Amino acid sequence: DIRDQQPRSDTDKEYENALRPLSFLDFSGQTKVVENLSVFVSAARMRGESLDHVLLHGPPGLGKTTLSNIIANELGVGFKITSGPVLDKPGDLAGLLTSLEPNDVLFIDEIHRLSPIVEEYLYSAMEDFRIDIMIDKGPSARSIQLTLNPFTLVGATTRSGLLTSPLRARFGINCHLEYYDESILSAIIQRSAKILNVPCTYEAAGEIASRSRGTPRIANALLRRVRDFAQVKGNGTIDHQIACFSLEALNIDKYGLDEVDNKILLTIIDKFQGGPVGLSTIATALGEDSGTLEEVYEPFLIKEGFLKRTPRGREVTPLAYKHLGRKSPDEQGF
Ligand code: ADP
Repeated sequence: DIRDQQPRSDTDKEYENALRPLSFLDFSGQTKVVENLSVFVSAARMRGESLDHVLLHGPPGLGKTTLSNIIANELGVGFKITSGPVLDKPGDLAGLLTSLEPNDVLFIDEIHRLSPIVEEYLYSAMEDFRIDIMIDKGPSARSIQLTLNPFTLVGATTRSGLLTSPLRARFGINCHLEYYDESILSAIIQRSAKILNVPCTYEAAGEIASRSRGTPRIANALLRRVRDFAQVKGNGTIDHQIACFSLEALNIDKYGLDEVDNKILLTIIDKFQGGPVGLSTIATALGEDSGTLEEVYEPFLIKEGFLKRTPRGREVTPLAYKHLGRKSPDEQGF
């Protein structure tokens, strides 16, 4: 997935961690998900048991890592973090699992990218808190069964469509994260500005929010850049004027669309007369995987009214023509 492949530097990560909410109360938006999770967490806590395994799915940057960290904090247990591509041998997973204290949370990011062998190994761990490990080498090699401490696996994925059904079936709790509304993003920006100790007006936060593609990670990243402009070109305060100036200078799309979004819309307009056109045809024209298109890119374009799903395929809307400065077929008089 293109957006996930952009490596984030250590300073980016430090910046993100500094802004990460640590409790449900501090986490804005995703109301239904947070309400449900806090009930399940409280219940598990009251019973002194591990929480059921949780699957979090949704596009990048919407708070999956943050929420899993909050789940551990609210349960009052330890938190370990790894990711599908990193766990390439069953032995790596066994090492992690045997290091968990009772009821700890193990977070596996990009869980759809686990190798089949590691995934199968995970099944008995999730179901019975047991794993088989090989001891000794050569003729005396044998496998023994180890009982693990009960734990909660929190899996995150941007591509839930790629999860195998046996893995999916082992998660008792399933949550989908949605893009954020502007008002909530604006509140997140104001909270981050407070933590960074930079004054930011209500109007400026709203302007940054409207260009953040419904995504807290992007909102926080833009805030960081705008803060630079405010310090160097302004008086240190982020007001509406300096926010607009910086976002223009950074070439940030007025609606928060990124390069891939614009390319998708332009491809449908230029190559398929605006649609309707099938998803896999668009994917081929773009050289992109159709699942990624459907799960990662399309939901935002649909939510913001640039794209429609029709029985005959995808169709761009008049807003898309207007935004891209193209004449729609109606305006051209056909
Ligand atoms: P994901 O794991 O889904 O890619 P993260 O949990 O890493 O996303 O979130 C990315 C950034 O956005 C983090 O810096 C986090 O602090 C911030 N963030 C995400 N969701 C929220 C939220 N609901 N409220 C405040 N900040 C958030």
